[in-house]
Amino acid sequence: MITTHARAVFNPEGPFKLTAIERRDLQPHDVLIEIKYAGICHSDIHTARGEWGPVQYPIVPGHEIAGIVTGVGSEVTKYAAGDRVGVGCMVDSCGKCTNCHKGEEQYCLNGMTGTYGAVDRYGQYTQGGYSTQIVVTEDFVVKIPESLQLDAAAPLLCAGITTYSPLRHWGAGPGKKIAVVGLGGLGHMAVKLAHAMGAEVTVLSQTLKKKDDGLQLGADHYYATSDPETFKTLAGTFDLIVNTVSAKIDINAYLSLLAVDGTLVNVGAPSEPLPVHVFSLIPQRRSFAGSSIGGIRETQEMLDFCAEHNITPEIEVISASQIDQAWERVLASDVRYRFVIDISTMMNE
Ligand SMILES: [Zn+2]
Ligand SMILES: [Zn+2]
Repeated sequence: MITTHARAVFNPEGPFKLTAIERRDLQPHDVLIEIKYAGICHSDIHTARGEWGPVQYPIVPGHEIAGIVTGVGSEVTKYAAGDRVGVGCMVDSCGKCTNCHKGEEQYCLNGMTGTYGAVDRYGQYTQGGYSTQIVVTEDFVVKIPESLQLDAAAPLLCAGITTYSPLRHWGAGPGKKIAVVGLGGLGHMAVKLAHAMGAEVTVLSQTLKKKDDGLQLGADHYYATSDPETFKTLAGTFDLIVNTVSAKIDINAYLSLLAVDGTLVNVGAPSEPLPVHVFSLIPQRRSFAGSSIGGIRETQEMLDFCAEHNITPEIEVISASQIDQAWERVLASDVRYRFVIDISTMMNE
């Protein structure tokens, strides 16, 4: 076993403590990664606090991982020591079902293995990226292009792919009108990506507080959803609405903003059901959809796209001792736009 330093919570209330965890010895297809940076995702908080179902403690969150390969198993062909690599929200899947065969491992019919809080094929409880090292099978490792800084690349592994995949799936591009609901960690990536794909991008945010930011990030228009006029002005406008908000919103009001054949896709995951009136959908042949991260092949494509278009998230780098504070700030929406932990500070007080 490979002993690894990590920051873990030991109960739903926290706080984080420095601890040691074990990574498995390298199997023939395994890659050992020295983690340099780990992004902080809102899901880390929901999961570690048991809000999305029971978890086992201690738990080490983190599924936006960027680092350097330091060792490989005997049959690894894709990676070598020194490679710059990333790991996202999943570390394994069955590899046999139709969805795995299509390269959509996130929809594995036998359930993909989450980067933390899951049981892997070796019967070990997975622990995430708030740690110094991780062992992952090579098929679930992606290459980080040279032109992307490792700290800024980390959030692409969840926030980036979560927004890239639905934008691609529903054809964001020139001539398409895309709305992004919420300008947080996910939303700001959706704006940058949709803009780079050539779409006309509108941000729908509760207030106009971040309007200057939004326009700078690449949005063409910015509207406050607290203003009822917004819903009248924009009725029937959008080909695609990407909803990144995980709070309960009036989904029917947003559906009314879709054009004929438009789709509203939720990537934010509210814990309560959203009541949808079928008559919000029928008259304009609209769709209400969901989307979860992206497959490994698509994640690589997203990283290459970001390198090519020079897209990186806006980040604030913190030390490992500041994770508790950072979580409080995420919950207070006081982050522009993603916290990234500098893992070299792991042992610091
Ligand atoms: Zn995430
Ligand atoms: Zn599968």
